[in-house]
Amino acid sequence: MFDSCETTKTTGAGRSGTRTAGARVNRGRAAKRARLVARAQLPTSFGNFKVVGIEGRPGEEAVAILRGMLRSGKARNGKAPLVRVHSQCLTGDVFTSERCDCRAQLEFSLKQIAKEPSGVLLYLPQEGRGIGLINKLRAYELQDAGLDTVQANSKLGFAADSRDYEFAAEALKALGVRELRLLSNNPDKVEQLESAGLRVVERVPCRPRTSRHSKFYLRTKKDKMGHLLG
Ligand SMILES: [Zn+2]
Repeated sequence: MFDSCETTKTTGAGRSGTRTAGARVNRGRAAKRARLVARAQLPTSFGNFKVVGIEGRPGEEAVAILRGMLRSGKARNGKAPLVRVHSQCLTGDVFTSERCDCRAQLEFSLKQIAKEPSGVLLYLPQEGRGIGLINKLRAYELQDAGLDTVQANSKLGFAADSRDYEFAAEALKALGVRELRLLSNNPDKVEQLESAGLRVVERVPCRPRTSRHSKFYLRTKKDKMGHLLG
């Protein structure tokens, strides 16, 4: 859920705590971690894209929606590709939930990428900032009782954000991306992708219009999770 389903410095515990060091140590070997396993045309209401299926270690998979040449220096305008790394949010992306801004960010990102000579939206199945769909619904129940999103995750025994972008970085490399402009409000995501060996030449704000229902949620992301939301 949240780029909205995005993260924070407070997630240093657990696997995220060793992420940076691990990415550096394993960089050579990790280059083979992601494989492109399927590729097809994908016409959408935002424009024509290609869809690529990507697999990693057991249980790791992602879908990339892309256009143009992704390798650095080959874009027609010489600019690095515009990239959005989006975490799955069933309630937002599919059911148009206004508890978060995921669908708005997804649509905004596809619209922006469709205007570019090259870009990719990497869609990661890490629902609820990595805690899973059912646990996200449990957190919603706690939020209905008055907790904010960070407090609810904490009460369930999870970090505010359990996501790990190492596989995302390897998936982007498998697609040929080395340098990118990242559509995100999350400084931690920039840091994680750079730690994993990508060069983020620019962070492009991802600021679609948001509903009144998601305003409390967005304020929590800004106040407690370090997101840059203006
Ligand atoms: Zn969401």
